[in-house]
Order: sequence, then structure tokens, then C-alpha cells
Amino acid sequence: MKKIVPALFLALTLTLLVVSASFAQADTLHLSMTRDWGYGGFNNDIQGTFSMIVTGPDNLSRVEYYIDETKIGEITAPPYRLQFVTDNYDLGNHILYAIGFTSDGQELKSNEIAATFVTPQSAGKFIFPILIILVVAVLASALVPMLTSRGKLVSLPMGTERKYGLGGGAICSKCHRPFALPLLAMNLGFSKLARCPYCGKWGAVRIQSIAKLREAERTELKQAKGEQIATETEEEKLKRQLDNSKFQ
Ligand SMILES: [Zn+2]
Repeated sequence: MKKIVPALFLALTLTLLVVSASFAQADTLHLSMTRDWGYGGFNNDIQGTFSMIVTGPDNLSRVEYYIDETKIGEITAPPYRLQFVTDNYDLGNHILYAIGFTSDGQELKSNEIAATFVTPQSAGKFIFPILIILVVAVLASALVPMLTSRGKLVSLPMGTERKYGLGGGAICSKCHRPFALPLLAMNLGFSKLARCPYCGKWGAVRIQSIAKLREAERTELKQAKGEQIATETEEEKLKRQLDNSKFQ
């Protein structure tokens, strides 16, 4: 995908360069075309807003612009640039050219540019598949890890020192345990979309500093000890308190 898109844009640009190929000479009228908005595809297919740009001798005083036999406009001062919208003309093959008039009465005909006016729909036919592929690729990069890791939970002793790697680490908002982020986690603004491997909760998490992550590991350990204390019986608790008091 990464290679196809630039290649397509390069192809479009090259086509446009061919369409507006240069034949500039002194005392002749040169017509070129630029795409201002729209589509310029293969086989000189065009759709959208284009400009016909004419350059000629210094004493050029007026330029008439033609699509086939129809005069579509006239410019009487430089820059001799006339914008037109292909949708205003019949679909199909056209010859574009210009006739220039100099102040000393010369009449100069420009080179001709062949173009095929196509419908927005057929121009869209070319562009939309690329957009759809892009959207699918973006969705797949988010969904595939969701589907493949669904249900699997990792069990790791509390307080274990983790390796966070290149993706960095984050702290789960539900179980507060720190975990390593996958390298290709999807960005959500300043956060990353990730799944906690311990409790399985998906959420937007922030990348944390290593100091914060180590702190969270130590907090885990305290929680684990706290749970042990909570599960001891009243008798054990009394005994432990008694033991502690002996040293005081
Ligand atoms: Zn969690």
C-alpha cells in the first residue's frame, strides 16, 4: 500500500506533464494546461477545474480560448490564464487551443491539447477504491490485534519488573497494573488504544515514564501484601500483632 499510492500520484503527475508539454518558442503562442481542482487521469481523461495558460510574444494583446469550435472565453491582459470547469461541456474527446492577437495585427494559433472530459462518477471510480483500501488498512491495523488477543489474559506475579521495549509502557485504568504497549498500538490523540494483558480491558492509555511504571510495579507489590494481610485469620492477625509488640 505504501508503495502503490506514491506510484499512482507520480503517474498522475507525469500524465499532466505530458498534457501540458512545452513547445515554447518566440513569436509563437504556447498553450499549457494546469489542474486546479479535480482529476487528471490516464488517456488524457480529465474532470474538474482546469486552467488554460497562454504565453506568447511581448506585444500579445488579446487571447481567445477554444474548446473544439466553441470560443469559451477571452482575456485582454496578462496573465493569459482562463479557468474552466469540464462539467460545463460535453463529455468525450475535445481539442483545446487558443488564438492570440498582437498589437501589430498578427494572429497566432497555439498548439493543440487533446483531452477527454469524463464524468465525476468515472473520475470517482478511479479514486474511491484507493480511499476504501486506505480506510480498510487503517481499520485492520486497529482490529486485527483486538481480535487476535481477545480472551487471552497474562498472569504475572505482582511487582514483577517488566521490560517495556520500544512501544513504551502504560498503566491500566481498571486494574492499575503497568504493561508494555505493542509497538504498533493505534494513536488516539495523545493516548494509545491498547488492551491490558492482565484484566483484558481495552482503553485509551498514556505512555508513562519509566519512573512512573516502576512505581506502579512497587504499588502492585504493596497491594499483593495487603491482600495477604486481609486474608489472614483473626487469630493469625492477633499473633502477628503480638510478635511485633515484643520488639517494641
Ligand atoms: Zn488491567
